Amino acid sequence: MRKLIALSLIIISLLTFCACGAVSEIYSSTLTYEGDTSEPAPEYDVYLNDLKREDIDEDAETPVSVQAEENGDSGNEIDAEAAPLTDTEIVNGPKPRKFFTICFDDGITQDMKIIEIFKKYGFNSCTFFINTGLYGANWKQIGKVYNRPDVTHIRFTKKELESGIYNGFDVAVHTLTHKSLKAYDKNPKGIRREVANDAENIFEITGVYPVGMAWPGGENDVTETTKKLVYENTSIRFARGAESTYSFELPTEFLMWQPTCSVRDAEVLTYARRFIESDCTENMLFFVWGHGYELDLDDSYDMLDELIQMMTEADDVECVTSTEFYQLFKDQIPSLK
Ligand SMILES: [Zn+2]
Repeated sequence: MRKLIALSLIIISLLTFCACGAVSEIYSSTLTYEGDTSEPAPEYDVYLNDLKREDIDEDAETPVSVQAEENGDSGNEIDAEAAPLTDTEIVNGPKPRKFFTICFDDGITQDMKIIEIFKKYGFNSCTFFINTGLYGANWKQIGKVYNRPDVTHIRFTKKELESGIYNGFDVAVHTLTHKSLKAYDKNPKGIRREVANDAENIFEITGVYPVGMAWPGGENDVTETTKKLVYENTSIRFARGAESTYSFELPTEFLMWQPTCSVRDAEVLTYARRFIESDCTENMLFFVWGHGYELDLDDSYDMLDELIQMMTEADDVECVTSTEFYQLFKDQIPSLK
C-alpha cells in the first residue's frame, strides 16, 4: 500500500512539473518579440535581393553592402534581455508596457537645439526623418507662410550630416525630395527613386539601413496603391502620417501609423501627464511628432525639455525610437493590412 502511495505521489509530481513547464512555454513564446531587437530585420535581405539595381534610374554608385545585414539592427538595444517572468505573468501573460516615442521631420538646423535638450536627459529615443536629395535647402517660404521671417527652415548639408549630427539617434526616410508619393501611383520607378534612394543615402551616412519613413507633407490620404508600391519596391515597413489620434492605442497598420499628437499641440504636457498616470492594462504608446522650426514658432523648447524630463523620469515608461517600436511589434502589427 505504501509503495502504491509513493508511486502515486511520484506520478502526480511528474505531471505537475510537465504542466507548469507547458504553461511557461506558452507564455515564453508570446514574449519572443522582446528578443528580436538584437536581430537584423529580415526585410533588409529580402529588399536587397529583390530590388534589381538596374531598376533604379539614379546613379548607381551607392554600394549596397552586405554590412546592412551586419548593422541591420537599429543600433539601439532595448530590453533585449527579457526579465524572468513573475508568477502573475506566467498565469496572466506578459505585463502590458507603456512606450513613448518622438520624431522630427525634414532634417533641419533646429534639430541641433533639440538634441541638446535630449542629451541633458540621456535620451536618444528620437527618430529623425530626412530628405537626402535636398541637402542644405533653405525653404524661406516657411517663414513667409507663418509671417515669421525670423523662423528658418534650413536642411543640413551632406557634410554636416556626415559629421555625425544624428549619431546615437534613429534616422529614417522622408523621401529624397519631399514630393508627394501619390503622384507615383502609376510609376514604381518614381517610388524607388524617392524612397529607396533616400534609404540608401541614409545607410551611407549612418551605416544603418532604414525600414521606416514619414510620409512627405504628412500625407494621410495616401492610396492603397501607394502603400502597396512602397511595400513591394522598397525596404520601408512602417510609415508615419500626421493625423493626431489623441490616443495611446497601438497602430493597427504600420504603413499608416498615426501619432498621438503634434509637438505644436497646446496640450502635449497634459497628454503626457495623463499617459504617465494611466493604469497600464494593455500596451500603450504616446507618440509625438513635429518639426524643429515649430519649436521656434511657438518658443516651446522649454515644453520639450519638460516633456523629455517627464518621460525619462517616469518609472514605467519605456522610451523607444519609431524603429525600435516597429521591431518590437512587427510580428503582431502588419505593415500592410
Ligand atoms: Zn516634411
